[in-house]
Order: sequence, then structure tokens, then C-alpha cells
Amino acid sequence: MASTPLMNNYARLSVAFERGEGAWLYDQKGNKFLDALSGIAVCGLGHSHPNITRAICEQAAKLIHTSNLYTIPLQTRLAQKLTSLSGMDSAFFCNSGAEANEAAIKLARLHGHNRGISTPAIIVMEHSFHGRTLATLAATGNRKAQAGFDPLLAGFIRAPFDDIDAILSIANNNADVVAIMVEPIQGESGIKVPAPDYLNQLRRICDEQNWLLMLDEVQTGNGRTGSYFAYQQNNILPDVVTTAKGLGNGFPIGACLAHGNAAQLFQPGNHGSTFGGNPLACAAALAVIDTIETENLCGRAAELGDWMRDAFKQEFEGASYIRDIRGNGLMIGIELDRPCTELAILAKVKGILLNVTGEGRIVRLLPPLILSDSEASLIVGVVSKLIKILVSDE
Ligand SMILES: *Cc1c(COP(=O)(O)O)cnc(C)c1O
Repeated sequence: MASTPLMNNYARLSVAFERGEGAWLYDQKGNKFLDALSGIAVCGLGHSHPNITRAICEQAAKLIHTSNLYTIPLQTRLAQKLTSLSGMDSAFFCNSGAEANEAAIKLARLHGHNRGISTPAIIVMEHSFHGRTLATLAATGNRKAQAGFDPLLAGFIRAPFDDIDAILSIANNNADVVAIMVEPIQGESGIKVPAPDYLNQLRRICDEQNWLLMLDEVQTGNGRTGSYFAYQQNNILPDVVTTAKGLGNGFPIGACLAHGNAAQLFQPGNHGSTFGGNPLACAAALAVIDTIETENLCGRAAELGDWMRDAFKQEFEGASYIRDIRGNGLMIGIELDRPCTELAILAKVKGILLNVTGEGRIVRLLPPLILSDSEASLIVGVVSKLIKILVSDE
């Protein structure tokens, strides 16, 4: 018999939190931890933000769920808010990032069939992450995540990330392509930031080819990179944007937003979700967006992220074991020249929560956007010291 009633699909750290406040989590023994990961870019407003707690409690007392068989005014309001923020025209709501990407993949296929392409293909990138459902797993550029789950869904063509020539060569050799799906910054594979005009170039190619440009902003969205969506720093509009993680500050909600023709593709019966966009989820997301706007948290993420990257660069000036310090806003990656997965455990012992990703060599920090200056310098101080101890012990 198994020693735990849970399936064994996570490698968990041995700590259990009981409550949270702002950027801090408290375990069952009363120890406190500074959360530099935000539940993987989810709790951008920190834990137990009073605006979100109030919105959830008030809405739960009124109405939690009806059905998409009926009009849901809060869903319409959230769609209005998100489309005006993003420049998109319409929204579909679901419950996770993977589901938002599933909707995007279905939009791309409809777009293809409308163009008379019976086997439409989507260009996706090496080292990408788009989710764990079978379609998003096939889109994900990670053989380890895919291992054991063949046959993968067909209809994806792989290209190297941040390589425009590779996209042009696919365009010249494959008439079935209908869309590109890409993260503005690759999060799971180690905060990989492309050339500043990468998205602009992809936009230009998509226009020339009549492909949909579909941006996966599940991790980069909701203020994390210093603008509400990362693409807004490129002054382009994608055809499709997906988001989830930070949208509900921990309340599960995802969205697939679309612009122009893509916004009109779904017809009744094409797609749906029982829970997607229910009154409770929408009330939570409306409170999140309102708080991001009124507290100017996009600007704060930009400023604080620059400050933290600069501070890390000073700490590691001339350090040969540091390959790169990069990111945008409060997506911060510190790439080492060696595996450093144990840093997550060492940091936890010192009261900081972080994550190591990208084949175990990249320290990933995704702190909440409400982080204070002193909390930011505490993270920089402790994490720098731990990295220095780690390399000196080897
Ligand atoms: C986390 C993530 C997903 C998957 O989101 P889930 O809510 O776990 O399904 C998809 N794309 C990106 C870029 C992500 O970071």
C-alpha cells in the first residue's frame, strides 16, 4: 500500500503553510518564510490581500456559480476590463493556464479550417512550457515532460526560441502553418528573454503569412513584467493572448483573449467550460485587476525588478560561476554554470522560498508585486550569500 493517499506526481519540500500575509507565509510551527515565488507567479498581490479576501467573501455569500447557459454580468464586466486593458476584442474564461492554451489551440485550428487547411499546424518553441493537458503537453518543448505520454497530439512544428530565420524557413517549407504560439519570456525553462524586437518580427511574419500570433502570457501577464501584459512593451497586438496564474491571485481562473478575426471564430457549441468565468472567479479577478491598477503595481514591478537585478549584478560582479542575471520586471533568473537545485532547500532553511528551474542551473525568483524595498533587499542578501556558500563548498 502507498504511504500517502496522494499520487506521486510532485517532488515536494517538507513544509506546510498555515497562513499568509503579504509576502510572508507561516508554517504550522509558526516559522515565517519570505515568499520569493508567489506560488509560481500566482499571488502577485501577496497572501490574504484584503481587497481579494473581501471580494471573494462578499461574492461567495451572494452567488458562486450559475452556468454559462445564462448571462453572467460579472463575466461581461471582467471581459470588458481585460479587453480594454489588452487591446483585445473578446474573452473566453476557463480555470487554468493549460485550459486557456487549449482554447487558443482550438482557435488556431478553426482559423486554419476556415482557410481551407485540413491539417493545420502551429509553430511552437524549443524549451517552451504551455501546460500538462495532452494538447498543451504536445506544444511544450520538453521531452522529459512528454516522456511516457506518446502518442502526442499532432499539429505542432518545433522551432528554436528567439530565432527568426528558423520561422522564415518553416514558412517557406510548410503550407499548413496557421499560427505561432510563444511565451514572451520563457518562464519554466529559466526566464529566457528573447531579443527586444523578437515579438515585433513574429508579428510581421504572422501578418505576411495570415497566421495567428498567439502569446502565452500565463506567467508573464497580470503586471509581472512591468506592464499588464509583456507584449505591451513591444507596441504590438497579438491575435490571441492567454493568461491565468496571477489573474485570480490564487483563485483559479484563466482567460483566452482574442483580437480581430480571431475574436469571432468561436460559435455556440465550439467550446465551453462548466466552471469557467463563474461569478466567484470573476469577482476575484476584477478585484485583482482593480488593485493592480489603483496601487500602480505594474510600475512597481518594473522598478523593483530593475533594482533587484542590479543589486544581484553588484553582488556577483566578476563571479565566473554566474552565467547570467536576467529577466523583466519581477521575473528574475540567475543562471549558474553548475546544477544548484539544493538552493531551494537551503533557502527554505533560511526562510526564503524560491525555485530552481531550467535543468537545475537557474534560480527563479517571482516575488509578489507588493514586495517592499526592505523585503527585496532581504531576498537579494540571503540568496546571494547562499549561492556564494554553495559554490565555495564545491
Ligand atoms: C504555468 C504555465 C502554464 C500552465 O498553467 P496551468 O494553470 O498550470 O495549467 C502554461 N503556460 C505557461 C507559460 C505557464 O507558465
